[in-house]
Amino acid sequence: MVQRRKIAVLGSTGSIGRQTLDIASEYPQLFEVDLIVANRSAQLLIEQALKFKPHNVVIASEDCYQQVAQALEGTGINVHTGSAVVAQLVAEPQVDTVVTAMVGYSGLESTIAAIKAGKKIALANKETLVVAGELINEMLKDSTSVLYPVDSEHGAFYQCLVGEDIDNVSRLILTASGGPFRTMPREQLATVTKADALRHPNWAMGAKITIDSATMMNKGFEMIEAKWLYGISQEHIDIVVHPQSIVHSMVEFVDGSVKAQLALPDMHLPIRYALGLPGRLATQERRMTVADYANLTFHEPDFDKFPLLRTAYDAARRGGNVPCVMNAANEVAVAAFLDDRIGFNDIYRTIERTMAWAPFIEKPSYDDYVATNAQSRAYAESLINNKE
Ligand code: MG
Repeated sequence: MVQRRKIAVLGSTGSIGRQTLDIASEYPQLFEVDLIVANRSAQLLIEQALKFKPHNVVIASEDCYQQVAQALEGTGINVHTGSAVVAQLVAEPQVDTVVTAMVGYSGLESTIAAIKAGKKIALANKETLVVAGELINEMLKDSTSVLYPVDSEHGAFYQCLVGEDIDNVSRLILTASGGPFRTMPREQLATVTKADALRHPNWAMGAKITIDSATMMNKGFEMIEAKWLYGISQEHIDIVVHPQSIVHSMVEFVDGSVKAQLALPDMHLPIRYALGLPGRLATQERRMTVADYANLTFHEPDFDKFPLLRTAYDAARRGGNVPCVMNAANEVAVAAFLDDRIGFNDIYRTIERTMAWAPFIEKPSYDDYVATNAQSRAYAESLINNKE
């Protein structure tokens, strides 16, 4: 029997984490879950632990530790708490692939630990590359670690680039659904509610990324993610709105030829692809029919209605710690919007003002990123508090 690959799922109770465990159940002969990590969804983590019998379980929030430890007593599963232990556990020798599915900046430290330990990484935490793409790429050069993108658009680029020379790429064309406010007049955005913003037309995702899709910050993040994954300058990455989310992205080559990857909008597919590499995993899931691709449409994004797209290109061009500042302010502003503390358009204002304030660091070290993140969060918080 072929030895099963042992996987670590960081953020196992979130949307991508749960779907990763679906894939582990779909191919029990290929994958064994070695480690699952959740922030504070104790009950679901316990259920996952009882089902998958991992070697290690981490509940990051210490106030949930007792509940998880008691529920798993006598099962032989090691239960840990705190976030520092995650960096040690992903580096354990039996772990083959680390799926980074946690939300936001918090994914950075454990991704770095996985790179240092030479693990394969199925990268779902796009903020890691947004915040510190340059540093991550430098670390990858000195490591046997490889990044496989889980984001559907970046998985599409990956598939289009198989067998191609990266020097023959002239443009990456990143598709965007346009989110829930695609057809709404710009003036109405000032009064949209959290419930409106959480109603994504094509994808069921966690709250933070759903708001990022409504502002299109998510697409700006993905542009920066693509820049670092494929070494293509932001000037050669275009964003195109494609409301049906069937074409997951396209690559244009120097001879004018364009390759696209198409599939139904289901995150299981890019997860299955990333975990199956270098091969493909067969599945019985529903296939596309002509009806799914008979009416595909594409149009240019509206940069005035979604100004964070422009902000993201600006951050990518300026480089250094600027994308880290943008990400930190966005995390604070989105959390405040989800708490009904600020309006939808205040997300953009908070980010722009924080970026205008933050001191520039051209070549940040890891410690510079940590400091930039903390200071930018504090500044964005102060803007929001002063407004209330
Ligand atoms: Mg995506």
